[in-house]
Amino acid sequence: MISLSKVSRHFRTGSAQVGALNNITLDVYSGEFVAVMGPSGSGKTTLMNIIGCLDRPSSGTYYYLGQSTHKASSEERARLRREVFGFVFQNYNLLASSTARENTEIPAIYAGLRKRTRYAKAVSLLSQLGLSKRLDHKPSELSGGEQQRVAIARALMNGCQVILADEPTGSLDSKSGQEIMEHLKSLAEHGRTVIVVTHDPGVARFAERQIELLDGRIVADTDTVPQGGKVAVRALENRAGLIERQGNSATRFLTPALSIAESIRSAFRSLRGNKFRTALTLLGIVIGVLSVTAMLGIAEGVQRGILESFSNLGGPTLTIQSTAGSDEQGKSLTLDDVNAIRQQIPNLLLVAPRIRSGALLSGRGKQQNAPIVATTTAAMQASGKPLAKGLFFTDQQCNGYEPVVVLGGTLTNDLFGENSTPIGEYVRIHDALYQVIGVLKPDRSPFSIQARSAYMPLLTAAVRLVGRDDIDIIDIVVAETDQLQRIEDNIQSLLRERHGGTDFLITNQAQILEAQETATGILQLLFGAIGGISLLVAGIGVMNIMLATVAERTREIGLRVAVGARQRDILMQFVCEAVVVTGLGGVVGLLLAVGAGALVSSFDVVEIVFTTPILLIGLSCATLTGLFFGFAPARRAARMDPVAALAAQ
Ligand code: ADP
Ligand code: MG
Repeated sequence: MISLSKVSRHFRTGSAQVGALNNITLDVYSGEFVAVMGPSGSGKTTLMNIIGCLDRPSSGTYYYLGQSTHKASSEERARLRREVFGFVFQNYNLLASSTARENTEIPAIYAGLRKRTRYAKAVSLLSQLGLSKRLDHKPSELSGGEQQRVAIARALMNGCQVILADEPTGSLDSKSGQEIMEHLKSLAEHGRTVIVVTHDPGVARFAERQIELLDGRIVADTDTVPQGGKVAVRALENRAGLIERQGNSATRFLTPALSIAESIRSAFRSLRGNKFRTALTLLGIVIGVLSVTAMLGIAEGVQRGILESFSNLGGPTLTIQSTAGSDEQGKSLTLDDVNAIRQQIPNLLLVAPRIRSGALLSGRGKQQNAPIVATTTAAMQASGKPLAKGLFFTDQQCNGYEPVVVLGGTLTNDLFGENSTPIGEYVRIHDALYQVIGVLKPDRSPFSIQARSAYMPLLTAAVRLVGRDDIDIIDIVVAETDQLQRIEDNIQSLLRERHGGTDFLITNQAQILEAQETATGILQLLFGAIGGISLLVAGIGVMNIMLATVAERTREIGLRVAVGARQRDILMQFVCEAVVVTGLGGVVGLLLAVGAGALVSSFDVVEIVFTTPILLIGLSCATLTGLFFGFAPARRAARMDPVAALAAQ
């Protein structure tokens, strides 16, 4: 079954060359129970690693079932480790964070066995080894003998034809050592080939054949199989090998790569094992994702705000404000100015004068200070404020100075209570009563100015409320944006003529838009830079922690390779761990961003809007950071020399 021909293994340490194995020629037949003995440093472990396809000879050839393993691909050698060889180590090499059952299942994960099958098989193997009551115990909760039995169960998980036990009793007391040897002996009796390394002659006596190594050479071998028997056995084995090779070539395609789901599950398990470190790694990503999504959300919100302000009065708008001071310099804007503009400037869709003031309003036993906006019916209609109930005021009501008001949604609630519709009721302002004729629909933001304002006819306010007819603001709506400049110039000269100077300010919506866009751009740049830098820093943190993790788990990596993991399985596992950490950070960052966005928006300073694409971008920023910065550590893990990894402390 196992045939080594003139196998040597040299290690280069600095300039010197150490010969661990020299010209070993050895045949082991299926079903044999062999003990390999020798002093420390005689090459026993090196021999086991070569037989188990973890290591390659420097020279000579190793045939498994008549096939040279020298020419086998790394994929094929991984398959041999997975399906044919089962390692048992002196220090058990169980994963500390996994239970006995989970440890037993590991080789089956790499063989692509389904979870349920895996589970059942692990339970049955552990029960056969007398561990049915220890299934969910962690290695730290098991005795040495029990841990070694878990290791044997793990070795048997994928069938396993050859057990390679390297000083399996070295860390055990003699009684548990005896038990382990009994188990190994019974496995040999049931047809498995068992090779045990030991330097305890008492342990070696369990085996039917003893081989002694010294300085990398075989110095004694109690090979007892008669020559004639060997020929017959070899013929049998070769036939078996042929059949097995055919069988395996069929199953090879059925063995999938370690599935992503499995990698993610194991990622969660190892992250749970180190919560504080995970939290620190998360923090950087959370801040990064928060900044990136905030940046995009603010940009989106401002964009929408601009669109809404465009439609505010149904078209491109000019706004005229008086700059006349209280010191009698210059004149206020008046209704005469409004009429002059209406009559002398063509192509205007709407001329909407406004008087702004504020007062204490009293409703049904409640009082509230509120902004009061006095304007025209046309402006009210053009602004497209949706009414929840009632009507806007009419031109007749305006011209008749009628004491009527339309209330914003929040203001209505403040004055008359939640969900009230006080149409026909009165509010008191400065000892005068005004009838409520309309209530606006609640705003997206209950704190917005609109929702908190009261609206009344222009002339009503001028005559009854403020006692003046000077206008605070005139909004002028034109049909086309490219008319704005020309009309602005015309109004400028008209008003300058009427006022005898420039005591007013005209703002052009196009200019406001430009200013807004610049401001948004700066905000975006700022948040983008913060986001980018925090993701970069977080990424470096992830890389750092992944490198530490890989270094810490060197033995685990060696073990995984020994039970049959391929390079890409290891790569996948560590990349998944990085991506899971950053993905989690991403989700937390998004939740915080959405929460903070709602809070900020409610104060009506900036609107923050999160669309699905923005959330997806935030999440991909996080996972891409993990993928990018986790790759190098994962590749380092995948490229580790398994022999050195297993020997690591
Ligand atoms: P044993 O298991 O019998 O104690 P080993 O097979 O571990 O012996 O080692 C045999 C010899 O090879 C020792 O002299 C050891 O120092 C050397 N050796 C083993 N592995 C390496 C390695 N990776 N690099 C350098 N020397 C090694
Ligand atoms: Mg050794």
